Amino acid sequence: MKKILNDKPLASWFLGPKAEHADTWTGILDYIFQDYIHWRRNYFSEDNIIVDRTKRRDHEIWFDKLNTEIDKLLNQLKNHYPFHSPRYIAHMLSEQSLPSVAGYFAGMLYNPNNVTEEAAPITVKLELEAGKMISEMLGYIPENSWSHITSGGTIANLEAMWVSRISQFIPLAIQEFCVLNKYKFQIKTPNGKRADISSLDKISLLKLRPNEAIFMPRKLAQFLIKDLKIDKSIVEEINKHLKNSKYNVKKKSYAKLISELGIEHKIFVSESAHYCFEKICGVLGIGEDSLELIPVDSRFRINIDSLKGKLKNLKENEIPLGVVGIVGTTEEGAIDPIHKIQEFRKELELSKKNQSFWFHIDAAWGGYFRSIIKTKSLSLNYSSKAYSEIFESYQNETQIEEDFKFYDKTMKADWRNPDLFYSLLAMKESDSITIDPHKLGYIPYPAGVICFKNGLVTELLTQKAQYISDDKGGMKDIDKPLEIKAIGPYILEGSKPGAAAAATYLAHKTIPLNNKGHGKIIRTTLLNSQKFYLYLSQHKKYFKEIEKEVSGDNNYEGLSFSFEPLFQPDSNLVCFIALPYVWSDNNVFTRSKTSLKKLNALNKFIHKELSISSEDKEKRIYSQQYFISKTELEYEQYKYNSIKELLYDNLKITRSNYKKYGLFILRSTIMNPWHYTAYAKNQDYLMGFLKHLHTTAKKGIAKIYSAQQ
Ligand SMILES: *Cc1c(COP(=O)(O)O)cnc(C)c1O
Repeated sequence: MKKILNDKPLASWFLGPKAEHADTWTGILDYIFQDYIHWRRNYFSEDNIIVDRTKRRDHEIWFDKLNTEIDKLLNQLKNHYPFHSPRYIAHMLSEQSLPSVAGYFAGMLYNPNNVTEEAAPITVKLELEAGKMISEMLGYIPENSWSHITSGGTIANLEAMWVSRISQFIPLAIQEFCVLNKYKFQIKTPNGKRADISSLDKISLLKLRPNEAIFMPRKLAQFLIKDLKIDKSIVEEINKHLKNSKYNVKKKSYAKLISELGIEHKIFVSESAHYCFEKICGVLGIGEDSLELIPVDSRFRINIDSLKGKLKNLKENEIPLGVVGIVGTTEEGAIDPIHKIQEFRKELELSKKNQSFWFHIDAAWGGYFRSIIKTKSLSLNYSSKAYSEIFESYQNETQIEEDFKFYDKTMKADWRNPDLFYSLLAMKESDSITIDPHKLGYIPYPAGVICFKNGLVTELLTQKAQYISDDKGGMKDIDKPLEIKAIGPYILEGSKPGAAAAATYLAHKTIPLNNKGHGKIIRTTLLNSQKFYLYLSQHKKYFKEIEKEVSGDNNYEGLSFSFEPLFQPDSNLVCFIALPYVWSDNNVFTRSKTSLKKLNALNKFIHKELSISSEDKEKRIYSQQYFISKTELEYEQYKYNSIKELLYDNLKITRSNYKKYGLFILRSTIMNPWHYTAYAKNQDYLMGFLKHLHTTAKKGIAKIYSAQQ
């Protein structure tokens, strides 16, 4: 068998399903601990030994107790789900890479608190460095951007919307300052035309391009100092004004402000949005009802025409706090057409509306997909080239079709279509991006990341706390390029693990965020997802062969079954259902009529068999062959019309039934890095999974569709 995809480095990055790399890991972790011990001993080595050997003997009883409890803990943990295993094809969980564990372990021993450099002299720098690597992968210019680690995607998304709101009001505070002092300060409106800031109404100032708002304090200071020759001390006055202005929503009441302005904030995101956006609306005080859920299409990508319609028809006083594109929806792995959202933003800016908005990307799941397009030809200075040209050179360079031949000659990777590629490319045009290293970064919790394209947002954010920072806040030297040395003053969270920073840093340093490094892991997961999709699609065709193999039976009688993937995956989540089928007299396999209630019952049965819930007291993981997860398409979330093609055209589910029952679906996250290597060793876990699904579905059909029920 010809192996095209070189798995050599990939297979060394993780512990292995059978802990194959255990010796190496033990060696490295022990080395880190030994080194740490010596670090302690060498610090004032002449100091007395306080816990001497005699004293240590007194501790034995307590250590015995401790060890007993450790044993109990370890025994309990053995019932934990085997995320590392190629048999775990369920939630967004998998292996952790060796460098991330080693980095975390080292960091954990020293236990730095990355809220301030004083409590984390080393790991704050590592966090900033890791942030730069990630922002570069995402297409931002690392020197101009600002990224840091959060507890996860939820807080990262919250922070993006928080920062969007703070910067959105900056122009109003600047206008106030200019009116007060009679400065004729010119700013750029979204359509590119210049205007005196005092001549603009307040609502249009809320609709400027985010960058215009963020740069505004600097631009004003430069104008006053350079053009009007005003003394440099004016910088301090601007800072003071911005701080005390009623438009400073960090300090002054937001509720009062919006009622005075008569405005309403809204966040736009597709129906597939992660539920954290509801929390975010609550926390920001704009209310869950202000979340505008845009319909999806039958592949769960945002319906761009609906989004356009919504934004074009907004009332004058309805202000977008953010328009959010999702790269890798949590339930379906769908990738929104980011390039089209960006094109539309430009269109809106140049239209009569003369309006822009904060463009945020929730790539908590899919941010790392971008590592597969970080190739040699795709360096940072590709901004002048057309997307189609970049796509072509990418294809020439990577020759990915060869990889597919290895798996299956007939397989065609849909994510290689230009639309998905352009979506990934266009991510760099956004204002902020959420990405979760603790998901597809294969890094231990907690590690989310928020990246801001324009790092000057930090000057608008400073939360002053004397004990963590000397930063007084506001604009600093207006001529100096951006230089961010701290984290604590600019973030929502307080104490945070330096260990997570060390883990993220070491992982990305040693498994680079490009197509030769991390991209290899991502690519295998994408390939495997297409492969599993294919297996499911072809189940009908191979039904008899599979049946014979799993049960030895060649004459299947009665009601039969097969599987239907709900859409071809954009990325590495495969959603599907099992359905009843029948053999007709002329031996043709066709779908059998079913009620939605029974269909859901069948899939719930399969889910129950392929998972262990807290109620399953008698189930043990050592007897659990495979794991799957589920989700439900519900009327309140996905409108019937959004996914009518799927619900009605394909499955003949009526609106009223959908409303009543929803559709229960099976969901497999295919992110295990070992599927490929195992396949090369003739162990096809995905086929094994299909066969197990087959056996389980057969049981389910017998149970649920038997005559009595
Ligand atoms: C996981 C996820 C989140 C939330 O991230 P946490 O790290 O769980 O807080 C947000 N958005 C998307 C698309 C996600 O997949």
